[in-house]
Amino acid sequence: MSTDTSPSTELPTFEIRPTDTPTPDAERDALTAAPKFGTVFTDHMARVSWSDGTGWHDRRVERYGPLQLDPATAVLHYGQEIFEGLKAYPHADGSVWTFRPWANAARLARSAHRLALPVLSEADFLGAITALVATDRAWVPTGDEASLYLRPFMYASEAFLGVRPTLEAEFLVIASPVGPYFAGGVKPVSIWVDDEFHRAGPGGTGDAKCGGNYAASLLPQRQAAAQGYDQVCFLDAATNTLLEELGGMNVFVVRADGTVATPELTGSILEGVTRSSILQLARDAGHGVEERRIPLAEVLTGLADGSITEVFACGTAAVITPIGRLAGRGWEHTVADGEPGALTSRLRTELTDIQYGRAADRHGWMHRLV
Ligand SMILES: *Cc1c(COP(=O)(O)O)cnc(C)c1O
Repeated sequence: MSTDTSPSTELPTFEIRPTDTPTPDAERDALTAAPKFGTVFTDHMARVSWSDGTGWHDRRVERYGPLQLDPATAVLHYGQEIFEGLKAYPHADGSVWTFRPWANAARLARSAHRLALPVLSEADFLGAITALVATDRAWVPTGDEASLYLRPFMYASEAFLGVRPTLEAEFLVIASPVGPYFAGGVKPVSIWVDDEFHRAGPGGTGDAKCGGNYAASLLPQRQAAAQGYDQVCFLDAATNTLLEELGGMNVFVVRADGTVATPELTGSILEGVTRSSILQLARDAGHGVEERRIPLAEVLTGLADGSITEVFACGTAAVITPIGRLAGRGWEHTVADGEPGALTSRLRTELTDIQYGRAADRHGWMHRLV
């Protein structure tokens, strides 16, 4: 991913319309102490409106609250919606930073193009997250591996049942304080490799970050959970033989010789910012790095003969999740004795050290928000 650029110097102005009922300090402190992922939201949200004639307008930060939607609003019928996910990290000196936001802005623009939604500029994307985090700075948690999760999203807001790209859209950013993803230490997860359902197919929307991809992953996820597995890994829809990714995380395998491999981007795999950062960190550390087609059969052979030693998943929310058990129809393997693998753990520490300002940001990935 070569989308990192220097931060725009001029950000558009967002009008701040503060809530007249802010959460009292004591209540906010209690809410941000140990929140469960995605359950607590800050007092405000950033918002920009779009219409076909006017373009993007009305940049503001306003009170967090329910959206009133006409029942005919297009997104409710045809799913024209995209989103992003990134975090604001507290640093020891009290400043607040985010990680490669230019990559998220660029990905949102690509997703918008694919879903026939209007493209939002990088400046508006950065302007929105900056204005929101500055307004709700007191909500940034400071505990170990705590952060403010930012969820930018865009939807078709026109009330019209005709099937065509919307003529009105809303872009919002909401913010949610989150504690460490693995409370009590990183714990490997179990994965069911599904050979029945796919989340995306050739020419579909797999490489766009859209809600519809997640909708397609929920039934297989529920079925796997009922069998005792934490998550699903999907295979490619064309041949049903190649490793693709999880419902919301990319996947990597580590070989005994230290080589790190992840499925190449084929159009049906989402290009994760964490994925590309891990590829870079592995390269920096002198590991062989491969982006290529990875047949499931190769993984099974490698796990059986010991030439594949670690498997992990990655994404912004959990950073790196070790995979301790991998199973599919008629087979099952324990990976790395069910413990976090050595390289998996090292990469996770390296990345979080950069994000929390404990290690040098040698690639210029960090961007100060406040
Ligand atoms: C968001 C997402 C990822 C991870 O992307 P990051 O930018 O690393 O958070 C991976 N796969 C899918 C399907 C996703 O939606």
